[in-house]
Amino acid sequence: MSLCKLCLEREANKKNTHYLTDAIIRTCLNLEGSNEREKGLYFALDNTNPFIDFNFQRLDELTLETTIGRKPTEEEIENAKSIPFSVDYVFCSDCENLFTDIETPFIQNILPRFRQADLSGLEIVSEADVVTIRNFFHIQLYRSAVCEDILAFSPEFTEKLRHSILQKNGDTS
Ligand SMILES: [Zn+2]
Repeated sequence: MSLCKLCLEREANKKNTHYLTDAIIRTCLNLEGSNEREKGLYFALDNTNPFIDFNFQRLDELTLETTIGRKPTEEEIENAKSIPFSVDYVFCSDCENLFTDIETPFIQNILPRFRQADLSGLEIVSEADVVTIRNFFHIQLYRSAVCEDILAFSPEFTEKLRHSILQKNGDTS
């Protein structure tokens, strides 16, 4: 068995972990502004390709053609069948629950204030609940670094991130 890459204690038993928060990716790049999984249209970071790949999931053909201006290629259809940003057997169920505990307050309390807000001209955004924001970004960074070869931090920083996430204190100093 392989150990969970966050706690390093329990078996990595969790399948289909999204290492970039699923709800964020989908609503960012969704055509209709809905949050339905099957209607997602988004971009994937591919660790075999330095460029950002176009990807999509089961859009109806008309929407897809209108969006990309042509019929999808066979390769794009094949790509669409796999779910990017998703990995199996890297983290354990307990740590997956911890990720959810961190994601939920961010998505519910903080994100709505930035979505659909006019942020142009703003140089500094201040937010009282800094720990929730830090925790949220720390899990995106840590999970991406663990899951993608293209992103690497120093072992020291990776270890600080790991401890910060486990303690949910937002502290990497
Ligand atoms: Zn774990």
